[in-house]
Order: sequence, then C-alpha cells, then structure tokens
Amino acid sequence: MESFYVTTPIYYVNARPHLGHAYSTIVADSLVRMHKLLGKEAFFVTGSDEHGDKIVQAAEKNNLPVKDFVDGISGEFRSLWPELGIENFRFCRTTDAAHEKIVQEMLQKVYDAGDIYFGEFSGHYCYGCERFYTEKELEDGCCPQHKTKPELISEKNYFFRMSKYLPWLKEYIETHPDFIRPDRYRAEALGMLEAGALEDLCISRPKTRLTWGIDLPFDTKYVCYVWFDALLTYISGLGGPQSQDFARYWPGEHLVAKDILKPHAIFWPVMLKSLGLPLYEHLNVHGYWLSKDTKMSKSLGNIVEPRAMMQTYGQDAFRYYLLREMHFGSDANFSEETMVTRINSDLANDLGNLFSRVLSMTAKYFSSIVPKPAAKLEQDKAIVDLCVQSMQNYVQLMQVIRSAEALEALWELVRALNKYVDSEAPWALFKAKEMERLGTVMYVLLASMRKIAICLWPVMPKASTLMLGQLGQKADEHTAPVKTIMDEITCFGGLDAGTTLAEKSNIFPRIQR
Ligand SMILES: [Zn+2]
Repeated sequence: MESFYVTTPIYYVNARPHLGHAYSTIVADSLVRMHKLLGKEAFFVTGSDEHGDKIVQAAEKNNLPVKDFVDGISGEFRSLWPELGIENFRFCRTTDAAHEKIVQEMLQKVYDAGDIYFGEFSGHYCYGCERFYTEKELEDGCCPQHKTKPELISEKNYFFRMSKYLPWLKEYIETHPDFIRPDRYRAEALGMLEAGALEDLCISRPKTRLTWGIDLPFDTKYVCYVWFDALLTYISGLGGPQSQDFARYWPGEHLVAKDILKPHAIFWPVMLKSLGLPLYEHLNVHGYWLSKDTKMSKSLGNIVEPRAMMQTYGQDAFRYYLLREMHFGSDANFSEETMVTRINSDLANDLGNLFSRVLSMTAKYFSSIVPKPAAKLEQDKAIVDLCVQSMQNYVQLMQVIRSAEALEALWELVRALNKYVDSEAPWALFKAKEMERLGTVMYVLLASMRKIAICLWPVMPKASTLMLGQLGQKADEHTAPVKTIMDEITCFGGLDAGTTLAEKSNIFPRIQR
C-alpha cells in the first residue's frame, strides 16, 4: 500500500491555540483523509514545541513552574483537535524523552561530521525573538519585531556550518521549482539566499543564560537552540532515521505559515543534508487569517477562538468555511458575516437543498427506493461527464492543497444538479406518468449525490457520513467511505437500484441572523 506523510508546525506553546493553528491542522487532516480516500496509508505529525527562553518567560508571567505551564498549554492543543474532527495524528512534544534522545543523536552525528564548531560571538540579542540581530537588521537600534532595544551580549557558543551548504541549497531550490510552494515563498527563500546575509547558525545556549532545553551531548554546559530541536520533531515523530516508519513514510510534506519560512526553507534542508537524510517533498506555505485586513492580536481584541466558532456553527461548517475561504498561500479575512453567507449559500441553498428536494421526491415517486435507470438522454450524459470532470479536478486540486479551488470545482457539479432538477422537472414527469424517464432522472441525481458525499469526506467528515447514510450507504466518519476514489471517478454507477434511502434530509439548516 502506498503511504503519505505530512506535518503541521510543532506549535510553540507560549500561547493558547488560535485560528491559524486550527487552520494548519485542519488542512493536515483534510490532506491525510484525501490520501486515505486514494487508498493510501496516511497520517500526520503535530505537536508542541516547549523549549526556549520565551516559554520560560511565559511561564514566569503565569506564575507557574515551566513544566506545569507547558503541560497545560500542550494539553489544550492536543484536546482541541478531536473536537474539530481532526484524526490520524501523532502528537509529539519536544520534551518527550524519545524526542530528546533523537535530537542528541542527531547533534552528535552533525558534530562528528565536523559541521559544528565552537566560537566566540557577540551581538545584539532580543529576548522576545530569542535571536541575535546584526547591526544592519536593527531599526533605529531596536528589534524590528518588538521595537525594543536588544542587549549586547558576548558569549562562546557552538555553531552549525550552515554557510558551507548554502550554495548547494540555492541550486537545489532553483532546480526544483515546486520544492517550496506557492511560488512567491520560493522567491522569498531565494531572496534570503541571494542577499548573502546568512551566516553559520548558532545552535547552543549557555546554561548560565538558559537551562530549559536539551543538553548538547558533547558539552553539557550548553542546551540546544530551540529551532534545531523543534525541526527534528518531523523525523523523531516517525521514530527517527533508523525506524521502520521513517523508511516507510519519509520524505513527507510540510505545512507552515509564512512567518516560519526561514527555519523551514533554509535551516531544515541544510540540517537534513548534513545528516545525510533525504530532503522533504514540498514546503507548503500558507498566509495569515486577518480580521478586517488586520492581523489578529490579543491587544487588538480581535482574536477568533476556534472552539467557540465550531460550537456556534458546527464542526463541518467551520471546516468547510476555512478550507473554502482561504486560497492557500494568500492571506484571508475571517468574519462571522462571511462565514454565515458561505454556509447559507453553499451548504444550505446549494448542497442542503439538493439533498432535501431529491430525497423528498424519491420518497414521493418511488417510496424511497433507488429506481433502475433506462437509456440516458443528452442532458443526462452531460451530467455524467461533468461528474467525472468535477471529481477529477477536485481530487487533483485537493492533493496540491488548493482546497478553495477544489471545492469550487465540486460545487460546479452541485449547482448543475440543482439546475438539472429544474430543467427535467421530475414533478411534471410524475404527473405525466412517465415513470421510466423519471427513474432515469432520479438515478442520475442520486448517483451524483453519492459521489459528492464521498468527495466531501476529507472536508466535512460528519456531514459526508450523514449524507452517505441517507443514501443507504455504509459509512462512518473515521473510515474512508470507499477503497479508492479513483474507481469512483472512472465509473458512474456505484449506487445500486433497489437501495432504500432516507425519506428526507435537513443536514445544513439556514442560519438566521
Ligand atoms: Zn524581538
């Protein structure tokens, strides 16, 4: 069986989960489900990044011992995901003993290869960013992120010979056009490499300054730099390079938001190269969720609570909205107004209405039994063709993480089916007692609806299961509804005449505001 592996960022637990975290993780879940629908073994790794000064500072602010603080926030992340219908993941913590062991092994390997050296360093250090700034990077002598004056620190540290690999990385990115996607982020990464501003990476912190980290195996007076530690979760989550899962699942896909492009586009490939491991398949970079074109922040009071939205609008509608509204790579605005509009137009009016009217008509005309189709007319064949086309586009676009376009492709079919109901007017056929023709029309509708319900399992697992149940199909939200969706695309059938259906359907009621 083919396999598929994807990761979300390992979320930094200095704050509670927000909409951006929920989005990345829902995308990962939808991708894994899509690949299961393609007949593959698939799962993803997510987790919590728990080391570094910022965590220590956040714990102090909350008057908690660091371990208690990270246990609490990490637990919030972990428990939120199942509520959003997110499954098939391994939750890894960078404080797990198994992870720490692999990080130490990897550090030793890089050290033995001669890619780590001890050196003196002095520079402007921002505690908020946990990094040194060069003179050039500062704005009016202040950190460009925090607008505060960094401290001048001089200390001895360990450095990773990143500069040695940068020409290789630049060439690799140039010759692999979809290694980083969408394209604008590839250009941004190349820009970082061209600027020549990248130096060797400082990968240690002296314990005199920070003790909350993983000990360097070759010098226990130091702990490991938080990024070097966190990035390795993508392979420690598989059990490390020696494991069976690594052999089976690596290389995989990474999903990140645009603010962490640099560690993933530059540090991580270079680390993998130094370790002699294959590079990841693609780095998939998404934008921010904004509120009225402004970044969400605590101070502005415009933070969206994913759990609250899910409770108000339902798990399926919330997932649908996020996957339909954001074009992967670009920023998107989140508002309850646009969410309600989306739910009412796409889910209640288009999809919900299709199910409601077709199932009621089948109840009335055929006692809720799927009729046998007779010869198809031109307009029926047009629907069959569109069904193949829409599904093909949908499956292809979902795999390259273009869920907004994928859903649009599927909705072409949903809208065409509603029009087909209007133009074929089953009520008139019934009145004229043209039962054979009526049976064909209803069959074309019902068989197409079954295809749509199958397609939607990665996006709305609960609703997909409900729709399939109403169409007399065995389904549960945790298991892919068919062996492989490719067979469903090439063959229009799949719904047996004689199947008993639900008498009515009201899956997506209109939201009144
Ligand atoms: Zn800063």
